[in-house]
Amino acid sequence: MNDHRHLRSVEQPQPPEPASPTGGVDDSSTATATPPDVPTRPVDLQLAAAVAGAFDARRLRQARLLAGRTKRDLADALHVTPGAVSHWETGTTLPRPDHVMKLAVELDVPVGFFAAGRPYAVLDAGDAHFRSLRSTPAYQRRRAVEWAEQVWEVAHALEHRVHLPPVDLPGYTPGDGVLAAGPDTTPFHAAHPQAAARELRAHWKLGKDPVAHLVRTMEKHGLIVTVAEFAGAATATVDAFSTSKLPRPVVVLTRERAKDVYRHRFTAAHELGHLLLHPDAQPGDPLQERQADAFAAEFLTPADRITAELPARMDLHRLDQLSRDWGVGVDSLIYRCREIGTISETTYRRSYQRLNQMRGLGLFPLEAVSGYPGEQPVLLTRACQVAEQHGLTRHALAAQLQCTLPRLRQLLGEDDRVPRLSLATVTADRVEEKGKKGDSNWRHSATGLAENSSDPQTTGCDTCC
Ligand SMILES: [Zn+2]
Repeated sequence: MNDHRHLRSVEQPQPPEPASPTGGVDDSSTATATPPDVPTRPVDLQLAAAVAGAFDARRLRQARLLAGRTKRDLADALHVTPGAVSHWETGTTLPRPDHVMKLAVELDVPVGFFAAGRPYAVLDAGDAHFRSLRSTPAYQRRRAVEWAEQVWEVAHALEHRVHLPPVDLPGYTPGDGVLAAGPDTTPFHAAHPQAAARELRAHWKLGKDPVAHLVRTMEKHGLIVTVAEFAGAATATVDAFSTSKLPRPVVVLTRERAKDVYRHRFTAAHELGHLLLHPDAQPGDPLQERQADAFAAEFLTPADRITAELPARMDLHRLDQLSRDWGVGVDSLIYRCREIGTISETTYRRSYQRLNQMRGLGLFPLEAVSGYPGEQPVLLTRACQVAEQHGLTRHALAAQLQCTLPRLRQLLGEDDRVPRLSLATVTADRVEEKGKKGDSNWRHSATGLAENSSDPQTTGCDTCC
């Protein structure tokens, strides 16, 4: 078992002279004599010297992986050997202050990022459920995992100022994931994903109607959901993933899937299934993937409600109506028809072919998540807004996390590059109330997280929309 459950909080160190725990700072045996060009203001050098003396080797590895850089690549940029970078990452030697400054420039982090003294959640790539494992190179998985760690750090920092919704997953123990069974827990057996989906619906009091605002529902129950390009251009390949091995469960979705709101919702439900069913992830395991799919299908379209509504013969017009009513794709409904047994295997295959042909002709166009605020994460950004109202500026938060403001915005999920046109005339709560009045349609969109919240220490913010 690795140490992913170990959350360390270290005292802020005093600025010491650079020294190695095993024998001193880096020297010419691992680094060349030519230092790279870096800013050399006295104050910068003083900070770099302090950071070099309190250097946290894991932070270098984290920053390097997040930047998508190899050790050799980084070593070349700093005019040192790859072995020197390895030694810095294992803590065998400490980098010199000028190297610390250059590392910060190369990896686009403040110099203070490398200092010990901030809470750090360690997550192993093997503890995350990756949706597309086979097409995901190991280094991209590690990059994605580092991203999830940093998202958790933002949430952890905000929790000191704002009460986030408590994690409400049956049997969930922070850091241990969801328990499969126990005297005080609801038994969620991976072999029965449909039963788990029904039990979670009951636990969250969702009834048997379409799930409105799935992502918002997950956030209201304490899950951190983020949509980001965490691996640059390769994000689409890495695809979605989730982990219950951090103090809060984290679900990472991608903008690629967000191009299709139905696929986005199914992916979110699939990851929810992993969180409940598979506390011990076996990334890429076909059985776990099928179980998570079965969970998602039952969670979004309960068999004892949807069966009576599915057409007895293949009827794409009817499936399109059901798709809009239930917030799932026509593709998923065709699969559900075969799963429940209303159509044969042959009809199932033909229906898929026909649907794809029609899509090729521009019919059945995809709808993007951008039109559905209830399917876009807001937990972290709302918490940040509330914290700002109570004195924690974004600059201060970025300084606390030792990250740049653009990186903080990314971690908060605010890196939407599409310009927004805001014509809001009603508050989020009023929109939510509209959605409640006698209509369970999942498409009603609300941007409020907590209804009727007058407590500034909650994530509900009644001044923003
Ligand atoms: Zn999966």
